[in-house]
Amino acid sequence: MYVVTGAAGFIGRHLVARLHADGHEVVAVDRRSGLPPEASLGYVTDLCDPHGGVDRAVSYAEAVFHLAGLPGVRDTRADVEHRRMRDNVQAGWRVLTATPLLTPVIVTSSSSVYGGVPVRTGRMWGSREDDRLRPLGGYARSKVLLELACAARAAAGGRVAVARPFTVVGEGQRPDMAMAQWIAAAQNGRPLRLLGDPARTRDLTDVRHVVEGLVRIAERGIQGTVNLGTGRAWRLDEVAQAVSRELGVPVDLEVDPAGASEPAATLADTRRCARLLGFVPSTDLRAVVRRQVIGTAAFATDTTAAHTAAVTERTAALLEPV
Ligand code: NAD
Repeated sequence: MYVVTGAAGFIGRHLVARLHADGHEVVAVDRRSGLPPEASLGYVTDLCDPHGGVDRAVSYAEAVFHLAGLPGVRDTRADVEHRRMRDNVQAGWRVLTATPLLTPVIVTSSSSVYGGVPVRTGRMWGSREDDRLRPLGGYARSKVLLELACAARAAAGGRVAVARPFTVVGEGQRPDMAMAQWIAAAQNGRPLRLLGDPARTRDLTDVRHVVEGLVRIAERGIQGTVNLGTGRAWRLDEVAQAVSRELGVPVDLEVDPAGASEPAATLADTRRCARLLGFVPSTDLRAVVRRQVIGTAAFATDTTAAHTAAVTERTAALLEPV
Protein backbone atom coordinates (compact mmCIF):
# COMPACT_ATOMS: atom_id res chain seq x y z
CA MET A 1 0.00 0.00 0.00
CA TYR A 2 1.27 3.47 -0.95
CA VAL A 3 0.54 6.79 0.72
CA VAL A 4 0.31 9.85 -1.54
CA THR A 5 0.19 13.29 0.10
CA GLY A 6 -1.09 16.21 -1.97
CA ALA A 7 -3.32 13.62 -3.67
CA ALA A 8 -6.03 16.13 -4.63
CA GLY A 9 -3.49 18.32 -6.46
CA PHE A 10 -2.41 18.44 -10.10
CA ILE A 11 0.44 15.91 -10.00
CA GLY A 12 -1.04 13.96 -7.07
CA ARG A 13 -4.20 13.08 -8.96
CA HIS A 14 -2.19 11.77 -11.90
CA LEU A 15 0.02 9.75 -9.57
CA VAL A 16 -2.92 8.18 -7.71
CA ALA A 17 -4.55 7.22 -11.03
CA ARG A 18 -1.33 5.63 -12.24
CA LEU A 19 -0.70 3.67 -9.02
CA HIS A 20 -4.30 2.46 -9.09
CA ALA A 21 -3.95 1.37 -12.74
CA ASP A 22 -0.83 -0.57 -11.74
CA GLY A 23 -2.93 -2.48 -9.20
CA HIS A 24 -1.73 -0.77 -5.99
CA GLU A 25 -3.85 0.25 -3.06
CA VAL A 26 -3.41 3.96 -2.35
CA VAL A 27 -4.09 6.01 0.75
CA ALA A 28 -4.72 9.52 -0.59
CA VAL A 29 -4.06 12.43 1.76
CA ASP A 30 -4.92 16.06 1.20
CA ARG A 31 -6.47 18.85 3.18
CA ARG A 32 -8.70 19.64 0.19
CA SER A 33 -11.73 17.45 -0.23
CA GLY A 34 -12.09 15.93 -3.67
CA LEU A 35 -9.78 12.97 -3.18
CA PRO A 36 -9.11 11.32 -6.54
CA PRO A 37 -11.81 8.88 -7.70
CA GLU A 38 -9.28 6.05 -7.90
CA ALA A 39 -8.32 6.32 -4.23
CA SER A 40 -9.79 3.49 -2.18
CA LEU A 41 -8.52 4.85 1.14
CA GLY A 42 -7.69 8.34 2.28
CA TYR A 43 -7.80 11.22 4.71
CA VAL A 44 -8.89 14.80 4.29
CA THR A 45 -6.57 16.40 6.81
CA ASP A 46 -3.82 18.93 7.19
CA LEU A 47 -0.46 17.19 7.45
CA CYS A 48 0.48 19.54 10.28
CA ASP A 49 -2.36 18.11 12.38
CA PRO A 50 -0.79 15.41 14.57
CA HIS A 51 -4.22 13.77 15.05
CA GLY A 52 -5.11 13.67 11.35
CA GLY A 53 -4.41 9.96 10.88
CA VAL A 54 -1.39 10.33 8.64
CA ASP A 55 1.04 8.87 11.19
CA ARG A 56 -0.95 5.67 11.21
CA ALA A 57 -1.19 5.47 7.41
CA VAL A 58 2.55 5.94 6.88
CA SER A 59 3.33 3.28 9.48
CA TYR A 60 1.64 0.70 7.20
CA ALA A 61 2.99 2.03 3.90
CA GLU A 62 5.27 0.26 1.43
CA ALA A 63 6.40 3.74 0.34
CA VAL A 64 5.25 7.31 0.83
CA PHE A 65 5.05 9.85 -2.00
CA HIS A 66 5.13 13.29 -0.44
CA LEU A 67 3.76 15.81 -2.93
CA ALA A 68 1.77 18.12 -0.64
CA GLY A 69 3.02 21.65 -0.55
CA LEU A 70 2.34 25.24 -1.45
CA PRO A 71 3.64 25.62 -5.00
CA GLY A 72 3.99 28.78 -7.05
CA VAL A 73 6.89 31.20 -7.28
CA ARG A 74 4.56 34.15 -7.97
CA ASP A 75 2.39 33.98 -4.87
CA THR A 76 2.35 37.48 -3.36
CA ARG A 77 -0.12 37.06 -0.49
CA ALA A 78 0.99 38.95 2.62
CA ASP A 79 1.43 35.78 4.68
CA VAL A 80 2.91 33.65 1.91
CA GLU A 81 6.28 33.11 3.61
CA HIS A 82 4.52 31.76 6.70
CA ARG A 83 2.35 29.47 4.52
CA ARG A 84 5.41 28.19 2.65
CA MET A 85 7.20 27.38 5.88
CA ARG A 86 4.16 25.56 7.13
CA ASP A 87 3.16 23.60 4.03
CA ASN A 88 6.54 23.04 2.39
CA VAL A 89 8.82 22.64 5.39
CA GLN A 90 6.85 21.80 8.54
CA ALA A 91 4.40 19.43 6.79
CA GLY A 92 7.31 17.73 5.03
CA TRP A 93 9.20 17.38 8.29
CA ARG A 94 6.16 15.72 9.89
CA VAL A 95 5.89 13.18 7.07
CA LEU A 96 9.63 12.49 7.14
CA THR A 97 9.71 11.95 10.88
CA ALA A 98 6.44 9.97 11.13
CA THR A 99 7.46 7.47 8.44
CA PRO A 100 9.52 4.51 9.72
CA LEU A 101 13.17 4.94 8.69
CA LEU A 102 13.20 1.87 6.44
CA THR A 103 10.08 2.90 4.52
CA PRO A 104 11.07 4.83 1.38
CA VAL A 105 9.82 8.42 1.20
CA ILE A 106 9.84 10.05 -2.24
CA VAL A 107 9.74 13.80 -1.74
CA THR A 108 8.80 16.27 -4.47
CA SER A 109 11.11 19.25 -4.32
CA SER A 110 11.48 21.57 -7.34
CA SER A 111 13.87 22.64 -10.08
CA SER A 112 13.54 26.17 -8.65
CA VAL A 113 16.23 25.30 -6.09
CA TYR A 114 18.80 25.74 -8.90
CA GLY A 115 17.83 29.35 -9.64
CA GLY A 116 17.98 28.61 -13.37
CA VAL A 117 20.89 28.08 -15.70
CA PRO A 118 23.25 30.72 -17.08
CA VAL A 119 22.21 31.81 -20.55
CA ARG A 120 25.18 31.81 -22.88
CA THR A 121 25.30 32.00 -26.60
CA GLY A 122 25.50 28.56 -28.12
CA ARG A 123 24.83 25.50 -26.04
CA MET A 124 23.21 25.79 -22.59
CA TRP A 125 24.22 23.30 -19.93
CA GLY A 126 21.51 21.81 -17.77
CA SER A 127 21.36 21.94 -13.98
CA ARG A 128 22.96 18.91 -12.36
CA GLU A 129 21.83 17.36 -9.11
CA ASP A 130 25.16 18.18 -7.43
CA ASP A 131 25.22 21.83 -8.58
CA ARG A 132 25.38 24.51 -5.92
CA LEU A 133 21.82 25.63 -5.13
CA ARG A 134 20.91 29.28 -5.80
CA PRO A 135 17.24 29.69 -4.80
CA LEU A 136 15.93 33.02 -6.08
CA GLY A 137 12.79 33.43 -3.99
CA GLY A 138 10.80 32.28 -0.97
CA TYR A 139 9.26 29.23 -2.68
CA ALA A 140 12.64 27.94 -3.81
CA ARG A 141 14.16 28.61 -0.38
CA SER A 142 11.39 26.62 1.30
CA LYS A 143 12.16 23.68 -1.01
CA VAL A 144 15.85 23.90 -0.08
CA LEU A 145 14.82 23.63 3.59
CA LEU A 146 12.64 20.64 2.73
CA GLU A 147 15.65 19.01 1.06
CA LEU A 148 17.70 19.65 4.22
CA ALA A 149 15.05 17.77 6.19
CA CYS A 150 15.44 14.90 3.68
CA ALA A 151 19.20 14.99 4.19
CA ALA A 152 18.65 14.73 7.97
CA ARG A 153 16.52 11.61 7.44
CA ALA A 154 19.19 10.10 5.19
CA ALA A 155 21.90 10.92 7.76
CA ALA A 156 19.86 9.08 10.39
CA GLY A 157 19.87 5.97 8.17
CA GLY A 158 16.42 6.65 6.68
CA ARG A 159 15.37 5.88 3.12
CA VAL A 160 14.53 8.99 1.12
CA ALA A 161 14.65 10.25 -2.47
CA VAL A 162 14.25 13.82 -3.66
CA ALA A 163 12.66 14.45 -7.07
CA ARG A 164 13.16 17.85 -8.71
CA PRO A 165 10.49 18.28 -11.39
CA PHE A 166 10.89 21.00 -14.01
CA THR A 167 7.76 23.04 -14.92
CA VAL A 168 5.05 20.39 -15.20
CA VAL A 169 2.46 20.58 -17.98
CA GLY A 170 -0.61 18.54 -18.89
CA GLU A 171 -4.30 18.07 -18.17
CA GLY A 172 -5.39 19.38 -14.78
CA GLN A 173 -2.47 21.84 -14.53
CA ARG A 174 -2.88 24.31 -11.67
CA PRO A 175 -4.78 27.39 -12.87
CA ASP A 176 -2.05 29.73 -11.59
CA MET A 177 0.55 28.23 -13.96
CA ALA A 178 1.48 29.97 -17.22
CA MET A 179 0.20 27.39 -19.70
CA ALA A 180 -3.18 27.14 -17.93
CA GLN A 181 -3.44 30.93 -17.85
CA TRP A 182 -2.55 31.25 -21.53
CA ILE A 183 -5.09 28.63 -22.57
CA ALA A 184 -7.81 30.41 -20.55
CA ALA A 185 -6.80 33.79 -22.01
CA ALA A 186 -6.79 32.49 -25.61
CA GLN A 187 -10.18 30.82 -25.09
CA ASN A 188 -11.59 34.13 -23.85
CA GLY A 189 -10.04 36.33 -26.53
CA ARG A 190 -7.65 38.01 -24.11
CA PRO A 191 -3.94 38.66 -24.78
CA LEU A 192 -1.46 36.12 -23.40
CA ARG A 193 0.59 37.70 -20.62
CA LEU A 194 4.27 36.80 -20.77
CA LEU A 195 6.59 37.71 -17.92
CA GLY A 196 9.95 39.01 -19.08
CA ASP A 197 11.69 38.53 -22.40
CA PRO A 198 9.65 36.21 -24.67
CA ALA A 199 12.95 34.52 -25.52
CA ARG A 200 13.26 33.25 -21.94
CA THR A 201 13.11 29.48 -21.79
CA ARG A 202 11.65 26.73 -19.64
CA ASP A 203 12.22 22.99 -19.53
CA LEU A 204 8.60 21.79 -19.71
CA THR A 205 7.87 18.29 -18.45
CA ASP A 206 4.82 16.23 -19.30
CA VAL A 207 2.97 15.32 -16.08
CA ARG A 208 2.73 11.68 -17.23
CA HIS A 209 6.52 11.49 -17.42
CA VAL A 210 6.91 13.12 -14.00
CA VAL A 211 4.61 10.40 -12.65
CA GLU A 212 6.61 7.74 -14.51
CA GLY A 213 9.75 9.10 -12.85
CA LEU A 214 8.20 9.07 -9.36
CA VAL A 215 6.96 5.50 -9.82
CA ARG A 216 10.37 4.31 -11.07
CA ILE A 217 12.10 5.97 -8.10
CA ALA A 218 9.87 3.89 -5.81
CA GLU A 219 10.09 0.66 -7.81
CA ARG A 220 13.87 0.82 -8.09
CA GLY A 221 14.45 1.88 -4.49
CA ILE A 222 16.38 4.98 -5.61
CA GLN A 223 17.83 7.23 -2.92
CA GLY A 224 19.33 10.69 -3.33
CA THR A 225 18.26 13.42 -5.74
CA VAL A 226 16.96 13.08 -9.31
CA ASN A 227 15.96 15.74 -11.83
CA LEU A 228 12.67 15.09 -13.60
CA GLY A 229 13.05 17.23 -16.71
CA THR A 230 13.59 16.76 -20.42
CA GLY A 231 16.84 18.61 -21.13
CA ARG A 232 14.98 20.55 -23.85
CA ALA A 233 14.37 24.31 -23.52
CA TRP A 234 11.20 25.93 -24.91
CA ARG A 235 11.01 29.68 -25.53
CA LEU A 236 8.01 31.35 -23.88
CA ASP A 237 6.79 32.78 -27.20
CA GLU A 238 7.12 29.34 -28.80
CA VAL A 239 4.83 27.90 -26.10
CA ALA A 240 2.36 30.76 -26.54
CA GLN A 241 2.25 30.06 -30.29
CA ALA A 242 1.60 26.37 -29.60
CA VAL A 243 -1.44 27.40 -27.51
CA SER A 244 -2.64 29.58 -30.37
CA ARG A 245 -2.19 26.78 -32.92
CA GLU A 246 -3.92 24.10 -30.87
CA LEU A 247 -6.90 26.34 -30.11
CA GLY A 248 -7.01 27.59 -33.69
CA VAL A 249 -7.20 31.24 -32.63
CA PRO A 250 -4.76 34.10 -33.21
CA VAL A 251 -3.34 35.54 -29.99
CA ASP A 252 -1.74 38.82 -28.93
CA LEU A 253 1.17 38.74 -26.52
CA GLU A 254 1.41 41.21 -23.67
CA VAL A 255 4.86 41.40 -22.09
CA ASP A 256 5.25 42.45 -18.46
CA PRO A 257 8.43 42.59 -16.40
CA ALA A 258 9.45 39.34 -14.71
CA GLY A 259 9.87 39.23 -10.93
CA ALA A 260 13.23 38.68 -9.27
CA SER A 261 12.37 35.06 -8.46
CA GLU A 262 12.01 34.18 -12.18
CA PRO A 263 15.16 32.73 -13.73
CA ALA A 264 15.86 33.56 -17.37
CA ALA A 265 16.18 29.88 -18.28
CA THR A 266 15.65 26.48 -16.71
CA LEU A 267 17.03 23.26 -18.08
CA ALA A 268 17.59 19.81 -16.62
CA ASP A 269 20.71 17.76 -16.92
CA THR A 270 19.07 14.39 -17.54
CA ARG A 271 22.02 12.02 -17.20
CA ARG A 272 21.35 10.89 -13.64
CA CYS A 273 17.68 10.34 -14.43
CA ALA A 274 18.62 8.25 -17.49
CA ARG A 275 21.15 6.19 -15.53
CA LEU A 276 19.02 5.54 -12.45
CA LEU A 277 15.52 5.45 -13.88
CA GLY A 278 16.23 4.04 -17.35
CA PHE A 279 14.38 6.79 -19.22
CA VAL A 280 14.39 10.51 -19.89
CA PRO A 281 11.13 12.49 -19.88
CA SER A 282 10.23 14.08 -23.19
CA THR A 283 7.54 16.57 -24.11
CA ASP A 284 5.55 16.66 -27.31
CA LEU A 285 4.47 20.27 -26.91
CA ARG A 286 1.55 20.24 -29.35
CA ALA A 287 0.18 16.99 -27.95
CA VAL A 288 0.48 18.10 -24.34
CA VAL A 289 -1.19 21.46 -25.05
CA ARG A 290 -4.01 19.58 -26.81
CA ARG A 291 -4.38 17.23 -23.85
CA GLN A 292 -4.41 20.15 -21.46
CA VAL A 293 -7.11 21.94 -23.48
CA ILE A 294 -9.32 18.87 -23.75
CA GLY A 295 -8.56 17.06 -20.51
CA THR A 296 -8.58 19.81 -17.91
CA ALA A 297 -12.38 19.84 -17.68
CA ALA A 298 -12.32 16.25 -16.43
CA PHE A 299 -9.93 17.26 -13.65
CA ALA A 300 -11.99 20.31 -12.77
CA THR A 301 -14.97 18.06 -12.02
CA ASP A 302 -14.60 17.58 -8.31
CA THR A 303 -15.19 14.11 -6.98
CA THR A 304 -18.28 14.00 -4.85
CA ALA A 305 -18.42 14.61 -1.12
CA ALA A 306 -20.06 11.18 -0.89
CA HIS A 307 -16.97 9.56 -2.44
CA THR A 308 -14.64 11.34 0.01
CA ALA A 309 -16.90 10.39 2.94
CA ALA A 310 -16.95 6.72 1.87
CA VAL A 311 -13.16 6.67 1.44
CA THR A 312 -12.47 8.24 4.82
CA GLU A 313 -14.97 5.93 6.57
CA ARG A 314 -13.35 2.84 5.03
CA THR A 315 -9.93 4.15 6.07
CA ALA A 316 -11.04 4.68 9.65
CA ALA A 317 -12.39 1.11 9.77
CA LEU A 318 -9.18 -0.36 8.35
CA LEU A 319 -6.39 1.78 9.75
CA GLU A 320 -7.65 3.38 12.94
CA PRO A 321 -7.20 1.61 16.25
CA VAL A 322 -10.48 0.24 17.66
P1 NAD B 1 -1.06 21.42 -6.21
O1 NAD B 1 -1.22 22.70 -5.47
O2 NAD B 1 -1.99 21.14 -7.32
O3 NAD B 1 -1.09 20.20 -5.18
C1 NAD B 1 -0.58 20.29 -3.87
C2 NAD B 1 -1.61 19.71 -2.92
O4 NAD B 1 -1.05 19.70 -1.61
C3 NAD B 1 -2.90 20.53 -2.85
O5 NAD B 1 -4.02 19.72 -3.20
C4 NAD B 1 -2.96 21.00 -1.41
O6 NAD B 1 -4.29 21.02 -0.88
C5 NAD B 1 -2.09 19.96 -0.70
N1 NAD B 1 -1.51 20.49 0.54
C6 NAD B 1 -0.71 21.57 0.69
N2 NAD B 1 -0.34 21.73 1.95
C7 NAD B 1 -0.94 20.72 2.66
C8 NAD B 1 -0.95 20.35 4.03
N3 NAD B 1 -0.29 21.07 4.96
N4 NAD B 1 -1.65 19.27 4.40
C9 NAD B 1 -2.36 18.54 3.48
N5 NAD B 1 -2.38 18.85 2.16
C10 NAD B 1 -1.68 19.94 1.76
O7 NAD B 1 0.48 21.38 -6.72
P2 NAD B 1 1.16 20.48 -7.85
O8 NAD B 1 1.44 21.33 -9.02
O9 NAD B 1 0.41 19.21 -8.01
O10 NAD B 1 2.57 20.19 -7.15
C11 NAD B 1 2.77 19.05 -6.32
C12 NAD B 1 4.16 19.16 -5.70
O11 NAD B 1 5.14 19.22 -6.73
C13 NAD B 1 4.34 20.40 -4.85
O12 NAD B 1 5.13 20.07 -3.72
C14 NAD B 1 5.09 21.36 -5.76
O13 NAD B 1 5.87 22.28 -5.03
C15 NAD B 1 5.96 20.38 -6.56
N6 NAD B 1 6.35 20.86 -7.89
C16 NAD B 1 5.40 21.17 -8.82
C17 NAD B 1 5.80 21.60 -10.07
C18 NAD B 1 4.80 21.97 -11.14
O14 NAD B 1 5.22 22.45 -12.20
N7 NAD B 1 3.49 21.74 -10.93
C19 NAD B 1 7.16 21.72 -10.39
C20 NAD B 1 8.11 21.38 -9.42
C21 NAD B 1 7.69 20.94 -8.18
